[in-house]
Amino acid sequence: MPLRRQAGHNLASNNYLGLCNHPKLREAAIAATQKFGVGSGAVRTIAGTMRIHLELEEKIAAFKGVEACVVFQSGFAANAGTVSSILGKEDFILSDELNHASIIDGARLSRAKIKVFRHKDVAHCEELLKEVQNEPGRKLVITDGVFSMDGDIGPVAQLSALCEKYGAIMMVDDAHASGVLGRNGRGSVDHFHCTDKVDVQVGTLSKAIGALGGYVCGSRDLIDYLYHRARPFLFSTSHPPSVAATCIAAFDLLESEPERIARLWDNTRYFQSELRNAGFNIGGVTTPASETPITPIIIGDGRQTMDFSRALFAAGVMATGIAFPTVPEGKARIRCIMTSEHTRAQIDQALETLSTTAKSMGVL
Ligand SMILES: *Cc1c(COP(=O)(O)O)cnc(C)c1O
Repeated sequence: MPLRRQAGHNLASNNYLGLCNHPKLREAAIAATQKFGVGSGAVRTIAGTMRIHLELEEKIAAFKGVEACVVFQSGFAANAGTVSSILGKEDFILSDELNHASIIDGARLSRAKIKVFRHKDVAHCEELLKEVQNEPGRKLVITDGVFSMDGDIGPVAQLSALCEKYGAIMMVDDAHASGVLGRNGRGSVDHFHCTDKVDVQVGTLSKAIGALGGYVCGSRDLIDYLYHRARPFLFSTSHPPSVAATCIAAFDLLESEPERIARLWDNTRYFQSELRNAGFNIGGVTTPASETPITPIIIGDGRQTMDFSRALFAAGVMATGIAFPTVPEGKARIRCIMTSEHTRAQIDQALETLSTTAKSMGVL
């Protein structure tokens, strides 16, 4: 496993806005550590709820324009804990085939019946909803806001309309959309103006927000229910106060430094058009086309992809290879993610290394 490199050479991180290293976030973490210590000392429902945990939840709820929010220890815990607690044996989950592993694990734990629809295929989702509409259980439709391997955007508006039509619950996992899409990075649900139609919005604090954690936004009733039922919330210790403080500072920055998001998109457009000009397959033919900073360079063969990745690393660029079973057989890729903090010179250097290495290996 290669160790992480400095930002300029790193094309593989989810540090979209450079917040992992932002001085204001470091200061917030240090100040909270000095004031409150390094750990919360208990699970939230026993003695592990500090004022700063509640402040963060209130801050996120206000940012997202929803009634309430609950923060989990990770995005994984948020998804798995939520899906597994709001569904039971008689219920149905309708899930995009490329949804994240944490959703799948949550669905398995819930023992609900799992129906998988083809990637972004709204008509297929409707067929499945019709099949189960007369069954007594609840129906939950779930999609990623941004898909993590191809960088394409989920059909949030159309799926929300289906949920209205069939009385289903709509849930969106915005891990890769938070801080990236929507006004000031409010996510895909905001991007599609669907805040009042999506019942459960999940986000992560581990990617663009720069720290660690996950959250669920929704109605007061939903959040109160999760406070009492979501097992990772009930049975696992809450964040250190420094994490909560860091995240509060990050949401402030989304409002006060929107130019980071603008730079992220500028860099993305530049990087992707240069890669296309150089002749790389960055998706859109046999794989979905990226619509976000996630930029797959499709190689195909798994072994060749890993060799390419290692050669890039040796040449000073960190771009991790991803192969089966994370992506389908024959669709192995180098997954690059642009950030707001890559300078134009760094991007140019990375592009040069990518081209030279690819040519020397017969990839290009
Ligand atoms: C990264 C990711 C998660 C998990 O988030 P963590 O905070 O890293 O646990 C959940 N869903 C999707 C789509 C992700 O990409």
